[in-house]
Amino acid sequence: MKPLRASGKNFRISEFDPDDTSLFEGGKKEASIEALKTQERLSDLQELLYAVGNHKLLIVLQGMDTSGKDGTIRHLMGGLGAVGVYVASFKKPSQQELDHDFLWRVHAKVPGRGEIVIFNRSHYEDVLVVRVRSLVPEKIWRKRYQQIVDFERMLVENGTIILKFFLYISPEEQKKRLEERVADATKRWKFNPGDLEERKLWPAYEKAYEDALGETSTDVAPWYVVPANKKWYRNWVIGSIVVKALEDLDMKYPEIDLSNVVIE
Ligand code: AMP
Ligand code: MG
Repeated sequence: MKPLRASGKNFRISEFDPDDTSLFEGGKKEASIEALKTQERLSDLQELLYAVGNHKLLIVLQGMDTSGKDGTIRHLMGGLGAVGVYVASFKKPSQQELDHDFLWRVHAKVPGRGEIVIFNRSHYEDVLVVRVRSLVPEKIWRKRYQQIVDFERMLVENGTIILKFFLYISPEEQKKRLEERVADATKRWKFNPGDLEERKLWPAYEKAYEDALGETSTDVAPWYVVPANKKWYRNWVIGSIVVKALEDLDMKYPEIDLSNVVIE
């Protein structure tokens, strides 16, 4: 999946096309069959991860409003058991959270041994919305890139695998999805009028994402840019990368000597 990695400080978002589906041979129908297989594989690997109880997997999801963070989580979780898997959603910080450093609330949610944690938004909001909305001065948020790199390296050195996904949609696709949200009674609850204000700041967000990804995509904690206008492609890409990362661990069920056990 090399072609999707954000490539260091000179990274340009325009290298990517949110409509791209070129890494998958086939279309939506073939992809949904593959997606089911990926979910099954993921389920087996997660159980193994939990049984081995050594590695930790952190999945970070970032993207504009309607980019599909919730849908991705639904897809990933669809294949996962109930134990050892958690989702942490990061909203506007509380007063108590603001009274601490920006990584405090995030650190409290990282996976323990054998666990998978999915971040729905993350510490990256502290260099995205915080920057775009000038919630802290530049001299504060600019230092955060290096603080994030150091924090993530520390997690990796302590046995965490970190996979970061930027769900990349176009402004036209967002318009379509916002309209759907308004029109559909089962989706309307998700519509937040504030999202329209954020939408007006699209170029500023795109620049903030470009800098954030460029500054913090490291070998140990890479960013993947996921073309996300097509939901099926987004799910296939992310599912494949997560499965590959777990397979690369080459885990085996622990050998336990039960030769003396007699079940009467
Ligand atoms: P949602 O993901 O739709 O539930 O919205 C969560 C909101 O919380 C988004 O508008 C985020 O930009 C906002 N948010 C998340 N983290 C922060 C943060 N550190 N500072 C300010 N706003 C944040
Ligand atoms: Mg929202």
